[in-house]
Amino acid sequence: MCGVFGIYGHAEAANLTYLGLHSLQHRGQESAGIVTTDGVQLYAHRAMGHVIDVFPQEQLARLEGEAAIGHVRYSTAGGSHLKNAQPIAVEYSRGSIAIGHNGNLTNAQQLREQLEASGSIFQAASDTEVIVHLIAKSTQRQMPDRLADALSRVEGAYSLLALSHDTLVAARDPRGIRPLCMGRFPRQPGAVVIASESTSFDLIGAEFEREIEPGEMVVVTARGVESSFPFPRADRKLCLFEYVYFARPDSTVEGASVYEVRKQLGRVLAAEHPVEADVVIPVPDSGVPATIGYSEQSGIPFEMGLVRSHYIGRTFIEPEQRIRHFGVKLKLSAISRTLKGKRVVVVDDSIVRGTTSRKIVKLIRDAGAREVHFRISSPPNSWPCYYGIDTPTRSELIASNHSIEEINSYITSDSLAYVSLEGMVSAVERATVPHAGAHAGNGAPQGAAGRRLPLAEPAGPVTARFCHACWTGEYPIEFRSEPSARQLRLREA
Ligand code: AMP
Repeated sequence: MCGVFGIYGHAEAANLTYLGLHSLQHRGQESAGIVTTDGVQLYAHRAMGHVIDVFPQEQLARLEGEAAIGHVRYSTAGGSHLKNAQPIAVEYSRGSIAIGHNGNLTNAQQLREQLEASGSIFQAASDTEVIVHLIAKSTQRQMPDRLADALSRVEGAYSLLALSHDTLVAARDPRGIRPLCMGRFPRQPGAVVIASESTSFDLIGAEFEREIEPGEMVVVTARGVESSFPFPRADRKLCLFEYVYFARPDSTVEGASVYEVRKQLGRVLAAEHPVEADVVIPVPDSGVPATIGYSEQSGIPFEMGLVRSHYIGRTFIEPEQRIRHFGVKLKLSAISRTLKGKRVVVVDDSIVRGTTSRKIVKLIRDAGAREVHFRISSPPNSWPCYYGIDTPTRSELIASNHSIEEINSYITSDSLAYVSLEGMVSAVERATVPHAGAHAGNGAPQGAAGRRLPLAEPAGPVTARFCHACWTGEYPIEFRSEPSARQLRLREA
């Protein structure tokens, strides 16, 4: 879970990368880094923390040049260390290179062992270092060819940016599991921007041009933009969870507005799992669009029943032992005025361990609700992600070893239901293809309250376009092995 941003040919490269990373902050809050080039040498700064804290003005001013790449990193268990921060910048026989990577390689451990056996020394536990060593060992002459050579040996998910003194390269794995897109500035057509999500372009005044295609490598130099497909072809497998939770609602991913997909998921959820109720409320913030869709489809009034505090940072220290265990109350509080005496539908995007949902049900009941019906805008999450989303082990995923009925009784709701995989895919399709009578501007059906959606058709080949392994266990890329004990120790180090 990371975000990448790159820019070429712009006098404000470092400042715009700073802003781009800020717009990708939701993809990783552990560390941030920017590497720039002035055409001769690279300048780098990386540190732990949020973008806004990592780059005070004087740091940004040091990052010279008209091309840059940046990275925000999400904390995975134990690996929260500066040495894992990106972009990685190294010197090798052909000069300097920096790399920032979003995704997860499935054969990194094997490659690492082979590289170590032939003398490579690793500093950190990240997969990205494997790519750097493969580049250094490549016999190709030009940096993009060396990178292509290196990437042809790795398996897994990557949306990656590389920067040398005069070249920016963007590459996306052959299945396109993580998103990556390209933009331009209307008044500066020579400048190119590349980002994990299109929302970055809105902030800096660039315009979305296109997706970087699965398996594509885009090379940007003073000569312009060149595209190639140097990797073996594979079926497209965009991660569906990007739409459900991970991407920002103001982004467009592969032609579908993330907000619209979430709203459609709510509509499908209401069509598949209706319930008699007085209000429908979101678990803020990620449950809001799906709740709007649920309300539109069902005719049940939308209300805010929970309020989220935006000031709980990762570093929040609970004041005293005896007032600890506030748990979810620190993050969410209930508005009893909307809940008291009501039959409440509460919509969230996912249940992972089930602990949050259980506390939310208690909060809503304590606020006086008569009934609490939980609705989830994705299917039961039973399988860990090996392609870059930070999920707990299978045994910690409540849906991996409990039925929906058991989860319902654990979280103490009156009923619990999840959207089907077929329903999910139909929601993405509805958000992608403009409907007849669509509302101008967003290409989506406007829901007069109570207008019923037909139930989704059984999942056809269209599900094949996506990775849905976290719900189905159908992993599109074999992972050679679970992390070894040594690798886990390295991650803990
Ligand atoms: P849990 O208490 O483990 O069931 O957490 C459920 C909540 O975690 C939901 O509100 C989700 O929005 C949120 N969530 C889902 N996936 C992730 C993730 N990979 N990282 C952080 N939060 C997540």
